[in-house]
Amino acid sequence: MIFQYFNSDSGSRAKTMRDTFMYRTFYVALALAVATPGASAFAAPADMVLFNGKVLTVDKAFSVRSAVAVKDGKIVAVGGPELLKRFPEAKRIDLTGRTLMPGFIDTHLHLFGLAHRAIEPDKAKSIVEIQQMVAAKAKALGPGEWINGYGWDEALLAEKRVPTRADLDAAAPDNPVILTRAGSHSSVSNSMALKLAGIDASTPEPDGGVIERGPNNEPTGIIRERSDLVARLVPPDTKEQMRPSYVARLKWLLSLGITTLMEAFTSIDDEPIGKGGLDRSKQGGPASGLHSWAEFRAIYSEMGAELPRMISYIAWPGVERLKAFPYKTGYGDDRLKLGPIGESPYDGGFTGPTAYTKEDYKGMPGFRGKTFYSQDTAREIVTTAGALGWQVGIHAIGDQAIEDMAKVYDDALKAHPKKDHRWFLSHFTMIPSVATMKMMAANGTWAAAQPNFLYNLEGRYEQTLDGYRLQHNNPVALPLRYGVKMAFGSDNLPIGPMVGLYTAITRKGADGKVFGADEAVSRQEAIRLYTEKAAYLGWDEKKKGTLEVGKFADMIVLDKDPMTVPVQDLLTTNVDMTIVGGRVVYQRAAL
Ligand SMILES: [Zn+2]
Repeated sequence: MIFQYFNSDSGSRAKTMRDTFMYRTFYVALALAVATPGASAFAAPADMVLFNGKVLTVDKAFSVRSAVAVKDGKIVAVGGPELLKRFPEAKRIDLTGRTLMPGFIDTHLHLFGLAHRAIEPDKAKSIVEIQQMVAAKAKALGPGEWINGYGWDEALLAEKRVPTRADLDAAAPDNPVILTRAGSHSSVSNSMALKLAGIDASTPEPDGGVIERGPNNEPTGIIRERSDLVARLVPPDTKEQMRPSYVARLKWLLSLGITTLMEAFTSIDDEPIGKGGLDRSKQGGPASGLHSWAEFRAIYSEMGAELPRMISYIAWPGVERLKAFPYKTGYGDDRLKLGPIGESPYDGGFTGPTAYTKEDYKGMPGFRGKTFYSQDTAREIVTTAGALGWQVGIHAIGDQAIEDMAKVYDDALKAHPKKDHRWFLSHFTMIPSVATMKMMAANGTWAAAQPNFLYNLEGRYEQTLDGYRLQHNNPVALPLRYGVKMAFGSDNLPIGPMVGLYTAITRKGADGKVFGADEAVSRQEAIRLYTEKAAYLGWDEKKKGTLEVGKFADMIVLDKDPMTVPVQDLLTTNVDMTIVGGRVVYQRAAL
């Protein structure tokens, strides 16, 4: 045992077998003589041992152990109480019977910063609370100042309805207000905001969107898919205003047990012109610096060790700019690196609703949603990115969108075969034909899914879908059975892997109703898709996703055991501690 760990320490320095033997002899003698802490002249064989827990390794056999030893940010041993004897000098963390498992890897998450003018309607439990937030912000900013915010969701509001212009008018009559719904496909504005945007009863329906109307054709405040009509008037935020909120959000993810996120909407706009950046002199408007690869690089070079690891999807910048950008998937380091060309939605979503479906929406004859670009453009994106060596992960939600996009991938892969591409469809919300699933399985196209959508958007699905396609929304078990590889993420609806696990296991929406019970997967499978499989999607299967020797010590301690807790209690399972690269980066305050 002692030999084993001295081997790894000194092996590289030992030039011959004889040297190796001498090193070993020397170290063994030393260890026997000074088997106490303080022998600091020589690197300790482990920095930390977490013991007395239920360790879900998520290895191939889903082995359960009770202790893990960590050195230099990596796992050096997984086992039982013997690790305490084996690594007597290491710092000890008593898990007191709690569960230790690999940190979650959210394969689809949107980071949002919060400017001084923004409120957080995603944290409100009622419209009344949203009103209080708006009123407080109006008071803080003074009249006339824009107020915005992201993330309200009527399913999570006590009133169980969308907020309206009148609700916001009551809270802030003298400030323009626009609040974007979770998912970004619709927004609510107050009267002053609508007035500044020139939207009233006589405004014609905008291209590609809907202005919802009440009596006398008066706008209700809700605008679907064309929130930009109002949002463009909100003064842009500077990097300096935004950065602290991005950092705060990233740290907050650690409290949810997320040790790696794949940020799904990073731009290369702020790269140098000629290297993929946006030529602002042609475009007009100020540099955004938000959701940008340049900005994330700056944040991570300064404080990456305190944050979850990040992999950035790059939003499609167009052929010429992507060709000019000198990097591709994998560039970066283990803290921050480039992921796929992805998201770049081919169709809409069900918050709109604008997902592109094979059949008409329920009760909406002739309406099948739409795509945001043509199949030719889709081909151009996929072939260009593929030829430059990028992974591809385009957003496809409706069944027709999924079938179109899977075919585009298939054609591209047939024309230019790639052995290990890990291309995937983001979302995969509606179940496509069996033929499509088989094709995806055959050519290795993955689905990066969000089981939590069912929890959050249950009401939307019931309004827009029916029958088989309703029951099989956000499918998991069936695609897996047809051989489609899958990984989980949240897409912010809501962020928090526990909701994803709960929904994948129960197939229950927030109201407790079960949809398509045959799409449910086991606890083991759900955990695997949020850890091991997600690591694979990020090209990190050798580095994370399981608790095995040689991998990063990216792990979390939970206050309940997700394998045995009554399934409802998954939703209230807390992360007690989060460790990234062997460093404790989060501890629950109550402890
Ligand atoms: Zn998307």
